[in-house]
Amino acid sequence: MSFEKWKEEFLKQVQRVNWMAFWSPKPGKNLVKIVVKGNLPAVNLQEHFLKWSCACFGPGCVVCDIVRRFGLSEATKRDMYYSYVVDLLSNETPRIKLWGYGITVAQQLATIVDQLDIFTPETGAAIQVVRHGSGRNTRYQILPDKPINIFEIPGVQEEYESLAPLEEFAEQRIQDSKASLVDNILQMDLAPDILNSILLLLKDRGFEISDDLLVATPQEAVEQVKLQQQEFEQAASQPEQAPTVGTTPGQTFQTTTTVADLIKKLKTSGQ
Ligand SMILES: [Zn+2]
Repeated sequence: MSFEKWKEEFLKQVQRVNWMAFWSPKPGKNLVKIVVKGNLPAVNLQEHFLKWSCACFGPGCVVCDIVRRFGLSEATKRDMYYSYVVDLLSNETPRIKLWGYGITVAQQLATIVDQLDIFTPETGAAIQVVRHGSGRNTRYQILPDKPINIFEIPGVQEEYESLAPLEEFAEQRIQDSKASLVDNILQMDLAPDILNSILLLLKDRGFEISDDLLVATPQEAVEQVKLQQQEFEQAASQPEQAPTVGTTPGQTFQTTTTVADLIKKLKTSGQ
């Protein structure tokens, strides 16, 4: 190999970051053209939806295990499909992005593919992606549109050359999902004891969990709460003392009362 060849290979690797850009349909009508790079126009992955989407790691998947043990049925793995697309109504770069879609969109695309070429870069048809609703009620309607040559769109040819074949995406997605799994779980709205148990399980499965995230084992947490309650009750049973700090002549007792004092007063008046 020569320097020129190495340089070319180096740049090819370094520029393989395009797949990190994801496309998501805006409300209403969108127009895209599917871009095929490599052998696959789409890849199928199974994904868990935690705070954000996370690829299933396959046999022995720790996320599958968490879903089962903690009854997080909404995060049960489901089929997702990924294709490269160019958004024909936007000039945003990178021009080529990854679009992740579910089974209903995939089925609609399959119906179109049955009758029309939507893949050939120069002559394949564009598709309309019409988005209705939002959140869990989001629905998509997929319609064929006019043929379009993606290489006539400024910037697309250059990006296409350095784009990684789509088949490489699946492995990359799993690696990325593993790397961000702890953050993903920390961002979820979980009860502290459940979160703690999940973190312990992840630690047990070889994930790096820093000790300050693991506040206590569930049993310790329960005992900590009991201890706090005891201290609270002891404090509440002590006779109220006149404040010695922050009082100046003319100031009433209330102006120096802290939240703890108020709670103490409420507690004693309730007895
Ligand atoms: Zn899984």
